[in-house]
Amino acid sequence: MDCIFCKIINKEIPSKIIYEDEKILIFNDINPEAPVHFLVIPKEHIESAKKISPENKDIISYIFIKIAEITKKLNLKNGFRIVNNCGTDGGQTVNHIHFHVLGSRKLSWPPG
Ligand code: 5GP
Ligand code: ZN
Repeated sequence: MDCIFCKIINKEIPSKIIYEDEKILIFNDINPEAPVHFLVIPKEHIESAKKISPENKDIISYIFIKIAEITKKLNLKNGFRIVNNCGTDGGQTVNHIHFHVLGSRKLSWPPG
């Protein structure tokens, strides 16, 4: 399968890994939009938020638990932002579901 994030999971493409276990990979975004900007992906190839179902739903809560743990370790006590871009209108460019976590600066709202 021609998926950049599956290749990152398989170490065919290098990345700066922050955390890894049997279910997920967390690595720095190659084009950071904030001093802290990492991506959280399931190792299972799920195309987007459109494909979340009763069969694969547990990975989403697992991802959010790990985000809570890692942002605490990184001392992001003033907060941070979790972003999931879904589909073309949502600005998704890699079709393997991922959650951006951005922090360490004040972020504007709403997005453009
Ligand atoms: P999207 O636009 O789909 O929400 O986010 C995709 C993100 O993946 C972008 O922020 C982009 O910088 C990041 N990205 C794309 N290719 C690579 C890569 O090869 N390595 C890493 N670390 N990040 C990537
Ligand atoms: Zn993939």
